[in-house]
Amino acid sequence: MKNINVSNVKGVGDALLEKLHMLGIETVLDLVMTFPSRYDHYEVLPLAEVIHDQKATVAGEIVADGVVTFYGKKKSRLTVPVNINGVIVKAIFFNRAFLKKQLIKGEQITLTGKWDQYRQQLTVEHHQLAIKEEDAPIEPVYLLRQVIPSNRFRKLIEQAFSQYEVEITELLPTDYLTEYKLFSRSFAYKQMHFPSDFSHLKQAKRRLIYEELLLFQLKMQALRRYHRERTKGNQKQYEQSTLQMFIDRLSFQLTDAQNKTLQEILGDLAAPHRMHRLLQGDVGSGKTVVASIALYATVLSKQQGALMVPTEILAEQHFQSLSELFEGVLQVELLTGSIKGKKRRALLDDLKAGKVDILIGTHALIQHDVDFKALGLVIIDEQHRFGVNQRKVLREKGMDPDVLFMTATPIPRTLAITAFGDMDVSIIDQMPIGRKPVETFWVKQNMLKRILTFIEKEVNKGHQAYVVTPLIEESDKMDIQNAVDLFQQLSVFYDGRIELDLMHGRLSNDEKDEVMRRFSQNESQVLISTTVVEVGVNVPNATVMVIYDAERFGLSQLHQLRGRVGRSDVQSYCILIADPKGETGKERMRIMTETTDGFELAEYDLKLRGPGDFFGRKQSGLPEFKIADLVEDYRALETARKDAALIIHHDKLTSDPEYQALSQYINDVLTKHEQGFD
Ligand code: ADP
Ligand code: MG
Repeated sequence: MKNINVSNVKGVGDALLEKLHMLGIETVLDLVMTFPSRYDHYEVLPLAEVIHDQKATVAGEIVADGVVTFYGKKKSRLTVPVNINGVIVKAIFFNRAFLKKQLIKGEQITLTGKWDQYRQQLTVEHHQLAIKEEDAPIEPVYLLRQVIPSNRFRKLIEQAFSQYEVEITELLPTDYLTEYKLFSRSFAYKQMHFPSDFSHLKQAKRRLIYEELLLFQLKMQALRRYHRERTKGNQKQYEQSTLQMFIDRLSFQLTDAQNKTLQEILGDLAAPHRMHRLLQGDVGSGKTVVASIALYATVLSKQQGALMVPTEILAEQHFQSLSELFEGVLQVELLTGSIKGKKRRALLDDLKAGKVDILIGTHALIQHDVDFKALGLVIIDEQHRFGVNQRKVLREKGMDPDVLFMTATPIPRTLAITAFGDMDVSIIDQMPIGRKPVETFWVKQNMLKRILTFIEKEVNKGHQAYVVTPLIEESDKMDIQNAVDLFQQLSVFYDGRIELDLMHGRLSNDEKDEVMRRFSQNESQVLISTTVVEVGVNVPNATVMVIYDAERFGLSQLHQLRGRVGRSDVQSYCILIADPKGETGKERMRIMTETTDGFELAEYDLKLRGPGDFFGRKQSGLPEFKIADLVEDYRALETARKDAALIIHHDKLTSDPEYQALSQYINDVLTKHEQGFD
C-alpha cells in the first residue's frame, strides 16, 4: 500500500498531481492519511432560531420538485421548496442541477447552508436525504491551504477508498484488536473521513492514536536496543584508583544521587556499546561535576572529550570552571564562534594531534573542519536548545563516540518518554546538602522601591542580584519594561552606591564576556539583564533574582531563572513582579511561590501551555503526531510504551505471521537509521 503512487487514483491528472505534491501527498497512503483537521457539526435548529446570514442546519420535507435555471456559461441554479417547521423555504443549490432527480416531492431532507432571512432562502452547501433528525451531518474539514477545493478533495478520498480500501492492511496483531476493542485499520481510516456518527469517529480516533503511539514507541525502543546491542568496540579502560583519587580531591562530597548517576554513566563508558544517555537534574543539582568526572575517565583511557553548550557565555563559564578543576592535570581548550583565524587553526591542529584533552564550546565544536584525534565522549548540555540531531552530525564526521545529553529542564514524564524514548535516562533528584530552597515572592509593580531597598540590603551583606526583563526593545503597544530604561532607573535610585551592569542580546560577545566577568568577580553587584542569564550561569554569590513581567515567562523558564540563585548555603530570594489579568496567570504566580520542585512545575506548565510550547522553541526534538496529543492521550502513550516493550522482546516478532507487519516496520526503521535518515 505505502508505495502506490497517488497518480493511480482515478481522476488524478498531471495538474491535480502537482497540487497533491504541494500538500506533501505522494502516495495513496499519504492521501488517505490526510485526515480532517476538524469536523463541523451542525445541530439541526428550528427555523426560528436560525440567524440571518449565518450557516446553519435545518430539516424538513420537500413540498414540490425543484426548478433549474441556467445562466452564464454552464452555470445553474436549482431551487427546491422545502417545508421547514411549517414555513416554506427555498433551498438553493448552485451548479448541481443533477440533484433535481433526487430531490423530489415528499422526501425528508436535512440542509446545511447560509440562511437569508429576507428572501426566506437557504444557499445549500450540503444536504442529506432521509436521515433521522438527531443524526445531523458531521462535516470533515481538511487543511488544504486552498490548493484543492475541499469538495474535490473529499471526492478524491472517496475514489481512493473505492480503489484501494482492501490494501489498507492491518498492522496490529488480532490479540490487540480484541483486547482493546479497536476498529480495524481500514475501517478506522474510512471513518475518519466519512464518520457514520460521533461515536464511530471517536472509536476511529482511538484506534489511530494507539496505532500512532505504538509505532512511535516501537521505533524509539528499537533504536534504543540497537544502540545497546549492535554498537561494539567502544569500551573505555582506565585505572579506577586514579579516577577515585580525583573524586576524593573534590572540595565536596558527591550526593547519593550524583554517585548513582555517575555509576550509570561510568558503566556505559566501560561497556562495549555506545552511550546514548540523558542526564536530567534540576538547576544546581550538580550535573556538571558528574559530567566532568566522566570526561576525566575518558581522558584516562587515552581519548578526548567534548562539552557542547548552547551559548558562548556558558561555554566560557564551563571553560573557566573546568580549567580550574583540571589545572595541571588535563589540557582544556575553548572553541566558540568568536575564536577565529590563526588561533583557531592552531587549536584545531592541537586537537588533531591529540594535545587537547577536553574541548569546550558551542556548536562550533561539530563544524566540518573540527577533527579530533580520538573523540571518546561528547557531552551536550541543554540539548533541546540545539534542536538538531547532533548524533547524526557526529556520525557524518565519521565519529560515533559515547554521547551524554544533559538537561536542567525538568521534563514531564510524557514528554521524556516521547522526546527521549530512545535514550537511557539518569536523574539527579537530590540537591547538594546545605542548600536552602529559594524563597519566592510575588509582588505588583508598585512595590519597586521596596524591592530596590531589599536588594541594597543584600548587597550590603556582600551578596549580588540579578534583575531580569523579558525584552530589550521598547514596544509602545505592549508596555514591556525595557532593560535599558530599567538600568537608568536603577542608576538614579542607587546613585553610585551600587555598581550596576547591563546585559542584553545586542551586546557583542566581547562586551557580554566583560559584563559576565565583572559580575562573577563581584566587580558589579546588580546585573540587569534580558533572559540571556537563563541558562547555566553560575555565580554562587548571587542571592536575589528579580523577574520583571514574570507573567510573560513560562513556569519552566521562571524556574530556570530562579535557579541562578540559591547556589550556595546562604538563603536566596526570588521576586516575581507581575500583574497578571486572568485567573491562570495568577495561579501560575501562586504556584511559583509555593513550590521549588521543577518537576511539579513542569507538569503544570505542560498542562497550561501544551507540549509544542514546552521547550520554548520549535524543533525541540518532540515528534509531531498526526492525531495523538501528548497531554490528552497520556494513558494511551503509557499503554503503547508497555506494549512496544513487550513486542520488541517478543520472539513472535520473527516467527508469528500476526506480527509480520510490525516486524517489517521495525526493520524499516533500523535500515533507515543505519543509512542515516533518522
Ligand atoms: P548543574 O550543572 O546541575 O546546574 P553544577 O554542577 O553547576 O549544577 O553545580 C552547581 C554548584 O554546586 C556548583 O558550584 C558546584 O560546584 C556545586 N556542587 C555540585 N555538587 C555538589 C555537592 N555534592 N556538594 C556541594 N556542592 C556541589
Ligand atoms: Mg550546569
